[in-house]
Amino acid sequence: MKTAEIRRRFLDHFVRAGHTLVPSASLVYNDPTLLFVNAGMVPFKPYFTGAETPPFQTATSSQKCVRTLDIEEVGKTTRHGTFFQMNGNFSFGDYFKEGAIQHAWELVTGSIASGGLGFDGDRVWVTVLGPGHHPDFPDGDTEAVALWRAMGVPDEHIQRRDLKDNYWNMGIPGPGGPCSEIYIDRGAAYGPDGGPIVDEDRFLEIWNLVFMQQELSAVRAKDDFDVLRPLPKPNIDTGMGLERVAYLMQGRDNLYEIDQVFPVIEKAAELSGKRYGADHDDDVRMRVVADHVRSGLMLMTDGVTPGNEARGYVLRRLLRRSVRAMRLLGVHDPVLPELLPVSKALMEESYPEVATEWARTSTSAYAEEESFRRTLAAGTQIFDVAVRQAKDAGVTTLPGDQAFQLHDTYGFPIDLTLEMAGEAGLAVDRDEFTRLMGEQKARAKADARAKKGGAANTEAYRTLRDAGETPFRGFTDLSVPSRV
Ligand code: ATP
Ligand code: MG
Ligand code: MG
Ligand code: MG
Repeated sequence: MKTAEIRRRFLDHFVRAGHTLVPSASLVYNDPTLLFVNAGMVPFKPYFTGAETPPFQTATSSQKCVRTLDIEEVGKTTRHGTFFQMNGNFSFGDYFKEGAIQHAWELVTGSIASGGLGFDGDRVWVTVLGPGHHPDFPDGDTEAVALWRAMGVPDEHIQRRDLKDNYWNMGIPGPGGPCSEIYIDRGAAYGPDGGPIVDEDRFLEIWNLVFMQQELSAVRAKDDFDVLRPLPKPNIDTGMGLERVAYLMQGRDNLYEIDQVFPVIEKAAELSGKRYGADHDDDVRMRVVADHVRSGLMLMTDGVTPGNEARGYVLRRLLRRSVRAMRLLGVHDPVLPELLPVSKALMEESYPEVATEWARTSTSAYAEEESFRRTLAAGTQIFDVAVRQAKDAGVTTLPGDQAFQLHDTYGFPIDLTLEMAGEAGLAVDRDEFTRLMGEQKARAKADARAKKGGAANTEAYRTLRDAGETPFRGFTDLSVPSRV
């Protein structure tokens, strides 16, 4: 089943159950605490905190998300995309734990013919807050356990975990509560039988159900907070990873092989002449390319342009990492004009804005690749020399002043130096690099102060003025003055 169809199926399920369908918000959302929307609940935050009254009691959405924290995981784990779609159902004081668990169970195990996702109930494992972790739940979340048991989940498939894993809060005072996650067992081919869910490769987390039932007065950490009172009207917030469900349903090994992503891998393979599946490192590179090209496309579609600050820098990093991964695959020609249109064709079915914004996004992406190619052309030789010197000297760390020079003179961002050094088996002396950056900043500040405060030297102007009239003779006399 195609990813776009699974998305529709999810939304239809909840619309049938009376939820209001809310379109995905832009990745760039008006929330000062976030660079990008990173969960389905973000646009609903004001309703959960009570700052605004929701215009509906229940809602469902498929929200575009970007998690830059997961950037290093991409291609290495099977399950992390920098861009992904989080499907969710939300209740604002309407149904609570029982409704949330019933809905989730029905959708996950319901037959395909009846609108469900058709997973065998025996493959479902769940986690809940366990006993002894919080005084308000001395025996753990017994309510959730009883509800899962009522759905037919055997006790050995219900894992009890601590606050870090199974208590949700926003990191600031406001709503919080235990959560319960749904995992699908991928079978013995992916890891040992039974046991606790430690091997998340075999047991894939697909859905997090959050039961907001407490109001927190202070939050110091995920597992360290003060409870003010029970929420008078508890809420439900859930998030299901669409791509994760898609790769399970499509019988693929990982997130990058779903219908919405894999053709970009195929294009990367074609361009590089490498076969996907032949070499682990090359496979990881192709997955990184496919993931980052898609994230870049979706970010640009939502108005982000490559730059050196905050959002723009994340986008720049994603695009540059894809270009570099292609180089490591042996492709030195421009790649985005080949790869980006493939991703566009895959994403526009679910997101028409990808098509309407295409002229702008493609122009911006191709220009970024050109500028990066110039940076690489200028700095790569210097970088290679530095690596050779370090290796000849028998050290495993690239000196900080060389990293600084690469940054200062050749425009190599430190991330790039770190990555390229890592590939060459070297660390980078970051402390020294940071110190030099600090020095440079201080110098720039001092210069700016001198320019602003110090009186400009006006001596030359005075001499000119005092010399009297300066006639222009250029029309008649082209001789060069003897003293310039
Ligand atoms: P993980 O432990 O695998 O990193 P998570 O616990 O951080 O996931 P949640 O914050 O609970 O994820 O988000 C809800 C759901 O969103 C997850 O159950 C998962 O299906 C999906 N999800 C989270 N992060 C990603 C990602 N980087 N790529 C794809 N799907 C994701
Ligand atoms: Mg995570
Ligand atoms: Mg998790
Ligand atoms: Mg989770």
